[in-house]
Amino acid sequence: MTRNTIYLSVFCIALFMILICVPVIAEAGRGGGGGGRNTDVPSILAGLSSIKFILGGLAALSGLILLRTIKINRNIRTLLMCAVFVLFGVLVIMHQPSPLRAVVDMVTALATGGAITLKKMTMIVFIGGLSVIGAKLFCGWVCPFGALQEIVNRIPAPSGKKIKLPFKISNSIRISLFVISLIMILTTGYDLYTYHSVLNPFELFDWHFELVLAVLVGAVLIASVFVYRPFCYLVCPVGLLTWLLEYVSIFRVRLDRAKCDNCKKCILKSPCPSVKAIVDGDTLRPDCHACGVCIDACPKDALEFGIWKKAKA
Ligand code: SF4
Ligand code: SF4
Repeated sequence: MTRNTIYLSVFCIALFMILICVPVIAEAGRGGGGGGRNTDVPSILAGLSSIKFILGGLAALSGLILLRTIKINRNIRTLLMCAVFVLFGVLVIMHQPSPLRAVVDMVTALATGGAITLKKMTMIVFIGGLSVIGAKLFCGWVCPFGALQEIVNRIPAPSGKKIKLPFKISNSIRISLFVISLIMILTTGYDLYTYHSVLNPFELFDWHFELVLAVLVGAVLIASVFVYRPFCYLVCPVGLLTWLLEYVSIFRVRLDRAKCDNCKKCILKSPCPSVKAIVDGDTLRPDCHACGVCIDACPKDALEFGIWKKAKA
């Protein structure tokens, strides 16, 4: 493991612990009153035993087992994403608080010293816990809006070509939106994502059909025809958090260099910008949504969703 990787891992763990602990400690300091009542560990554990978290956990665990036991091509993946969309989107099992709302409200609580509710804290622990077990197990196997973008991405682009956004640009936009939102919270008390639902497509799963939501969702879905998961890479603060957590995830896509003959079939067949960074051994890795397509694409079985360790040079 390089020194940079160690520093980054320590930074991510520290950030994660701060994100999880500070609102709880702040709330405890206020005596547990108001909207943040019962954000203690036993209450969070009790919240995690509700049906939606059990089903979400089972979906993520199934994803982990499938990634490790079978080859998932794009057709199988699309069918699985349809199931995730119906289960957690249409049947509204992943109902409010939405993942985005939970993360943004936590940041607001940190920035303003406000309280965060038990439901939102439980959602954060759920997302963070799954993401530490396996890279993007929440985003890749539970999130209904991520699933919807993947399904739409199977529609052939009129140009015949899909676009892979340069990660440095997409991530800079995602981080900039996050910073702008933070400044807004500190100066106006509102955040960018959920103010009049400007950037919160998760309202869709309440089946509200307001104009701003229709424009946002319509734009993301049109973009999804050309680009893999555009909202996740360009906007979503949950995606930003889970991307950071990928650096400490136990299970990740990893390359066995001894088997790889650099044919680049995985890069050609995969929809994401991540697999190129994995093959090239880059320290900066774009989000991998744990779809498994690159693993299926490799004729040498050089890729696997395995316990992370540095690939041999
Ligand atoms: S990045 Fe956001 S929209 Fe994409 S899968 Fe994760 S939570 Fe869902
Ligand atoms: S690197 Fe890309 S193709 Fe491979 S599992 Fe991750 S998202 Fe899927």
